[in-house]
Amino acid sequence: MRILVVEDEQSLAESLRQGLSAEGHHVELARDGHRGLELALTGGPYDVVLLDLMLPGPGGAAICTRMRALADPTPVLMLTAKDGEHDEADGLDAGADDYLTKPFSFVVLNARLRALARRAAAPEPTVLQAGDLVLDPQDRRCRRGPHDIELTARELGVLACLMERPGRAVAKQDILDEVWDAPHGIDPNIVEVYVSSLRKKIDAPFGRRSILTVHGTGYRMAPDGG
Ligand code: CA
Repeated sequence: MRILVVEDEQSLAESLRQGLSAEGHHVELARDGHRGLELALTGGPYDVVLLDLMLPGPGGAAICTRMRALADPTPVLMLTAKDGEHDEADGLDAGADDYLTKPFSFVVLNARLRALARRAAAPEPTVLQAGDLVLDPQDRRCRRGPHDIELTARELGVLACLMERPGRAVAKQDILDEVWDAPHGIDPNIVEVYVSSLRKKIDAPFGRRSILTVHGTGYRMAPDGG
């Protein structure tokens, strides 16, 4: 991800830069509100902007307000030194998506950043349909005709990935990248396990074949639901 960090505390700014760079992110650093505002408005696009609330020059809330006034939808994570309700409300009122109170652990920061990026990248939730097979990813519900089908979160993710591309071959690696949070280093063949259990739930009991194997590649959802 491309991340803008606006933080005036030298040691925190440096450790954020190092830590996030080590995670493979591209980090740009601004050490005061003026530079932060300039980069936020003209240096992007960024995937996420980290704003300290208290800065020399315009503070994090002011920067965020300007971004939102210009209809910039970039996810903003506000960093606040004080844990008063007031600060939190200031940040969120300004249009920040989330906030983190200092001191915070790097693990928590990383998790929040991933969640923000995922939310931003997620398309509008829609109900997916292939014939009489219906999947509502938001409500996490699946049914075949009148029959409700219980799916695990992972099965649901794999099925959604295929149903979003009806009739098209989807590589196991692409399914892995889309559905797994940390796909790096995982054998894409793990996807076979979930496809197999999906077939036992959505196809076999109904005598249908909706998830077709594309040899040497991956899988394809029959647009008519099999
Ligand atoms: Ca500060």
